[in-house]
Amino acid sequence: YIFGKKKATEVAHLVWRHVLHKGDIVIDATCGNGYDTVAMLKMVADESGHGRVYGMDIQTEALENTSSLLDETVTQKEVLLDFFSTLSSLSQKKELVKLFPICHSRMDEVLPENSAVRLVAFNLGYLPGGDKGIITTSKTTLLALEASKKMLILGGLISLVVYVGHPGGREELETVEAFASGLCVDGWICCKFQMLNRPLAPVLVFIFKR
Ligand code: SAM
Repeated sequence: YIFGKKKATEVAHLVWRHVLHKGDIVIDATCGNGYDTVAMLKMVADESGHGRVYGMDIQTEALENTSSLLDETVTQKEVLLDFFSTLSSLSQKKELVKLFPICHSRMDEVLPENSAVRLVAFNLGYLPGGDKGIITTSKTTLLALEASKKMLILGGLISLVVYVGHPGGREELETVEAFASGLCVDGWICCKFQMLNRPLAPVLVFIFKR
């Protein structure tokens, strides 16, 4: 029922909330308009300034949108009361998020060595409201999944929202599924949520490291 009522990304957020702790290091592999980045920040940032979100996107427009959303979020009264009242200034909040204009296949180049990453999240496809021709591809998504696999700590999660309604989307889902299906049972729990009566709805893939 929750899947029918909520957007796929909100369902992914519910799962993240069960996995994440305050102070965690997480990666938003596809920042886009920043909604996932902000959701992650709220889950990992604590009062003493621990918790980090490393965000990346190949489009500067996306990183600008993410940065603006972070700015807006701090001025929202509701959020201020709820959470950001514990962080004294905008600059402090922004320090918790590091944004990089790179392909996610290069995520290991921008994270400090031996970072204990608990979540790598992908929201694949194109930037909503942006250029639909600039899109994630099976090849770089697979490279990014390999990089994520190496960086994740025990108990960590690789989360993917995969869109199948655009050209190439179905192939990308197949690539993600093949990657997850090939992981060893002892080390990984791999599952997928799919709406059977809505064949074009986004598919969620969750890859937990045991
Ligand atoms: N998470 C976002 C949000 O909350 O608004 C939505 C992400 S949007 C569906 C997908 C994003 O992936 C686009 O902004 C696109 O530029 C980005 N992207 C495409 N290929 C990429 C790549 N190889 N590395 C990093 N980002 C990429």
